[in-house]
Amino acid sequence: MYRNFSIVPKIMFGRGSFNQLGDILAEHRTGPDSYMVFVLDDVFIGKPLEGRLPLQPGDMLLPVNVDDEPKTSYIDQLVAKIRAYNGVQPAGIVGIGGGSAMDIAKAISLLLTNPGSSADYQGWDLIKNPSVYHVAVPTLAGTGAEISRTAILTGPVKKLGINSDHTLFHQIVLDPLLLAGVPKDQWFYTGMDCYIHDIESLNGTYINEFSKAYGEKSLELCRQVFLEDHPDSDDKLMMASYFGGMSIAYSQVGACHALSYGLSYVLGVHHGIGCCIAFDYLEDIYPEGVAEFRRMMARHDISLPRNLTAGLSDEAMQLMVTTALNLVPLWENCLGKDWQQQMTRERCLAIYRRM
Ligand code: NAD
Ligand code: ZN
Repeated sequence: MYRNFSIVPKIMFGRGSFNQLGDILAEHRTGPDSYMVFVLDDVFIGKPLEGRLPLQPGDMLLPVNVDDEPKTSYIDQLVAKIRAYNGVQPAGIVGIGGGSAMDIAKAISLLLTNPGSSADYQGWDLIKNPSVYHVAVPTLAGTGAEISRTAILTGPVKKLGINSDHTLFHQIVLDPLLLAGVPKDQWFYTGMDCYIHDIESLNGTYINEFSKAYGEKSLELCRQVFLEDHPDSDDKLMMASYFGGMSIAYSQVGACHALSYGLSYVLGVHHGIGCCIAFDYLEDIYPEGVAEFRRMMARHDISLPRNLTAGLSDEAMQLMVTTALNLVPLWENCLGKDWQQQMTRERCLAIYRRM
């Protein structure tokens, strides 16, 4: 069976396109009482970007903190805050920030129209009702969260996305100028998330011409960004992120993402850096990708944390292995149908012990 999938219907791209956000939203301000909620990564509070938000009277500015990756409990609190602010549903939610702020915006827009806790919807196609209109403005490029049908959340029992067609943004505004000011390490880690999406998609057993077309272009752009010098490298990285997201949308990620989920669940390691840490130990599975990744690290003088798992209890190590191996489609994409024979608990544990 082929999957029939939705994508983001409206996209604006270009330097300064953020200036048109007000016009885009105006079409969705349906009545005198309608209001927008601006979900803004709190790193921008007091910065010029905050002053550039096209706020209208009645709109809500909702700063969000992403020191921890989004948790279901945090989403539930934010939804309650919006309901307390105004009993009427907002006309739109605008998420401004990196993958974390974008995922928060997605999850809020879903939970405003679906009852219960966000933890109830972690899984595939559990969302019943269409979301509130929601828009993304990425300020960090690489995750592909702007184009994906998931909002990744850490819940009480698992780290798993709310995957549904309703999760997709209705509109994205890709303005490369907003990437200015990202700290270099973060720029690299999130950019490598994209590079690793490409490598895992292109080298997986689920690969097909659709995913290959997007993955190859994304990989080419990543090489230009991380191995060459270009004045428009922010434009390139923003499109690499989008194309990488489109590639995995119709294939899958692989071993590195599975292992990074274990690191994240047990140690709270963030997605981009977690992918970098895991990828560096996967030379057996992705030899060319890992070699090129190391050249990119060297070129940008990036060093990764080591000995992360050295002091961990057996129980914590086993939980990490279980978390990683539960991601069946990722392993099947990476190693094929007989992946369980190849990636035993012992082999997985041995990889984690090296980290
Ligand atoms: P992030 O959103 O967690 O942000 C990382 C740091 O960069 C934060 O401190 C943030 O405040 C800061 N930041 C963001 N933009 C900035 C800017 N322009 N200037 C200065 N600082 C800035 O990082 P990320 O790597 O983009 O996202 C990771 C998150 O995305 C994780 O929660 C992960 O689970 C999620 N994710 C989602 C998908 C998806 O498809 N939905 C895919 C991959 C990752
Ligand atoms: Zn990723």
